[in-house]
Amino acid sequence: MKDVILTINAGSSSVKFSVFEIAEGQLTQLALGLIDGIGAKATFTAKKSSGEKTEFVLDQSHHAVDHKIALTAVLDWIEKEESGTNVVGVGHRVVHGGPVYSEPLLIDAENIRILQTFEPLAPLHEPYNLAGIEAAMEAFPKAAQVACFDTAFHRQHPYLADTFALPRKYYDEGVRRYGFHGLSYEYIHRILRHEEPVLARGKVIVAHLGNGASLCAINAGKSVASTMGFTALDGLPMGTRCGQLDPGVVLYLMAEKKMSAAEITDLLYKNSGLKGMSGISNDMRELEASSEQSAKDAIAYFVRRARREIGGLCAMLGGLDCIVLTGGIGENAVNVRQAILQDMEWIGIHVDAEANARRERIISEKGSPVVALVLKTDEERMIAAHTSEMLGLKEPLVPAVS
Ligand code: ADP
Repeated sequence: MKDVILTINAGSSSVKFSVFEIAEGQLTQLALGLIDGIGAKATFTAKKSSGEKTEFVLDQSHHAVDHKIALTAVLDWIEKEESGTNVVGVGHRVVHGGPVYSEPLLIDAENIRILQTFEPLAPLHEPYNLAGIEAAMEAFPKAAQVACFDTAFHRQHPYLADTFALPRKYYDEGVRRYGFHGLSYEYIHRILRHEEPVLARGKVIVAHLGNGASLCAINAGKSVASTMGFTALDGLPMGTRCGQLDPGVVLYLMAEKKMSAAEITDLLYKNSGLKGMSGISNDMRELEASSEQSAKDAIAYFVRRARREIGGLCAMLGGLDCIVLTGGIGENAVNVRQAILQDMEWIGIHVDAEANARRERIISEKGSPVVALVLKTDEERMIAAHTSEMLGLKEPLVPAVS
C-alpha cells in the first residue's frame, strides 16, 4: 500500500485536488485535477504525472453535483486509477483562520464549529472551504483532515501592524488586517531557506502576482506586513478585484448610486482590477497582447501600485536583501517584471534586463545589493507538507536548513 496525501481547494463552483505520495521523507505529486461547474453542469478532469488525462461529465440524473458528490468522484477516481493507495491525510486550503489560528489545524467536530464563525470574514470562500472539509470527512473517514490557512503566516503581527485607525473595539471584534496568500509565502520562504539560506535570514519581500495578488514583507522568516487587509480585496489591483480603495468610494456608491451591498461586492470582487480597468480581460496575457489604451492603462496601474507597495514594505523592513517574484504573472510576465523592478536602484534593486528576458532564476545584476529572484510557488505542495507534518512525518518539502 502506498500512503498518499490528498489536497483539496474547494471553491463555490469548483474543487481542485492533488495527490501526493509520501515516501522516504519526500512528497511526489502523482496527479492533479479539477471538478468544475458544481451546481450546474459539472465536469471532472484529472491528469496524472505520467501525462495520462481523464475527463468526463458527472452524472446529475439523481442529484445536482455538490461538494459531497464531487469528493466522492475524487475518491472513486483515486481507487480506480491509483489502486493500492491509502489516503492517510486530506489537507484543505482554508482562506481564513480568523484571529486564532497561526498554524495548520487537525479538524474535529468542535473546531469545525469555530471555523464556521469565520464565515462572515470571507463569505465568498470560507463556506465552500468548509463544505469541502465536511464532504471529505464523509468520503475519507479514516484520513486525518487538516485545515491549512491562508492567513496563518501573518498571525504573529503586533496590534499596530494589523489594526485600522478605528475604535479599539473593532479590532477586538476581529476587524483587522489578516493578510492572505500565506501558504504561498510560506512555501517560497522554505525554498529560499533551502536554496539561499543567507538571504532567507534577512529582509525579504515576496511578490505573489497571480490572478489574486499581494506582497509580503518577511524579516528573518517572519511576516512583518502584507498588502492585503481585512479581506482579499486590499492592496494591489488584481484580475478582477480593485485593490486599495478609499472607503469613501463605497459610501458614495451606497448613498449616491443606491447600490446594495451585493452590487458593491460584485463590482469590487468581480468587475474591477485588470478586468474592470481594461474592459477587456482579467488575464494579463490578453492585456499584453492588446493594442487598446485601456489594456495598457490597466497594466501600468498594476505596475505602479506594485512599485508603491514595494517602497512601503521596504520602509517597514528598514531595508531589503532580496525580492522574490512568484505567481502566474511574477513567474512568467517578463515585461511586467521588468517594469516593476526597473529604476529601483535607490533601494538597491539593480535588475538585469537580459537575465530577466532570458527567464533566469536570478534577475538582478551580479553585485546588486538586493537579489531579485523568480521562484515558482506551489501552494498544494505546502498544504501536503503541512498535512504530512501533522501526521508526524519529517518535514518533507525541503530539508530543514536553519
Ligand atoms: P491564480 O491566482 O488563479 O492561481 P495564477 O497564479 O495562475 O493565478 O496567475 C494567473 C495570471 O498569470 C493571469 O493574469 C495570467 O495571464 C498570468 N500569466 C500566466 N502566464 C503568463 C505569461 N506567460 N505571460 C503573462 N502573464 C501570464
